[in-house]
Amino acid sequence: MFSFVDAFRDSDTAKKIMRLIQKLASGDRRYRIVHVCGTHEDTITKYGVRSMLPTNVEVLMGPGCPVCTVPPNRIDYAIRLAEQGHTVTTYGDMMRVPAGLGSLQDAKARGHDVRIVYSIHDAVKMAQKTTRQVIHFAVGFETTAPTTASELAAGPPPNFSVYSAHLLIPPAMMALMEMGVTQVDGFIDPGHVSTIIGEQGYREVADKYSVPQVIAGFEPLDVLMSVAMILRQIKEGRAEIENSYRRAVKPEGAPQALKLLDQVFEPEDAPWRGIGVILRSGLKVREEYASHDAAKRFTVETEASYDMPRGCRCGDVLRAIIYPWECPLFNEACTPENPVGPCMVSHEGSCYISARYGVEDLR
Ligand code: SF4
Repeated sequence: MFSFVDAFRDSDTAKKIMRLIQKLASGDRRYRIVHVCGTHEDTITKYGVRSMLPTNVEVLMGPGCPVCTVPPNRIDYAIRLAEQGHTVTTYGDMMRVPAGLGSLQDAKARGHDVRIVYSIHDAVKMAQKTTRQVIHFAVGFETTAPTTASELAAGPPPNFSVYSAHLLIPPAMMALMEMGVTQVDGFIDPGHVSTIIGEQGYREVADKYSVPQVIAGFEPLDVLMSVAMILRQIKEGRAEIENSYRRAVKPEGAPQALKLLDQVFEPEDAPWRGIGVILRSGLKVREEYASHDAAKRFTVETEASYDMPRGCRCGDVLRAIIYPWECPLFNEACTPENPVGPCMVSHEGSCYISARYGVEDLR
């Protein structure tokens, strides 16, 4: 039986889109399209989308891995909280990411109480059953932040706090444009984030940089179609926000989630690993919720410094300057079993994804 999913993996439709892409990209010009989503990277790599594209059309992943982009000083802060005797909870991918004081997993091995949770709600339930301070190290983009906001708005127990390292995607896209270190001819906008912020969430990117954008879903044909739509915009001299994922993304996004985010958080300038500080790209807990804000409740010294491991080019991977396999350590000194840099640690890191599917060099 032909399923809904099969419709987005149909080879005849893929061939038609490929013919359209070849027509739109004919000529000598090189096109460089950037996406900012680990799930898009997974689809692109798993289905060999890059190998299907003309050689003058490149698709690179930018700062779309929520764990890889958390800067070392935030991780050190969470480790210091655990060293003070508090319970620190976080998501599994965060545990092995290296920082100045090692990783959260190292802290756990040293006997500190660091625990993996599947949702922030599990951390709240943990706090309800103990008198210890429970601090949730909250990471993730606009997709995850509403669940953090929801728990704070619901009134958690007094011994529960959040240490917010939430980051926002559109400011990172603007930072890439601003830095000018990589050519960006178009953005494939992330499907999950877009369900929250909608088409309107990318308005500032469009207004400031006149760059074509297409919101895309996660099936191979979604990604191929988004490439074709970006090339068509370029050909027609347009720079618009188009939505090829209408089955999930509304123009206005998810108003209730956005309202909750605004109620609990305010934007702040925030550091990103491999990129630096990006204006208004982080989410800080508002004063009204200060009694559950670990950054306000606990005094922490995070004096440890961290340099990216020698040879690791994660910063260039996160800025869409190189593909993972262009790093000299890829699949040599750095593997998913023995990761050197954060992009090989997280399941949403492009180095991990390339290694997982056995990609060496597709070009
Ligand atoms: Fe860093 Fe490893 Fe990726 Fe190289 S392959 S950039 S060392 S994470």
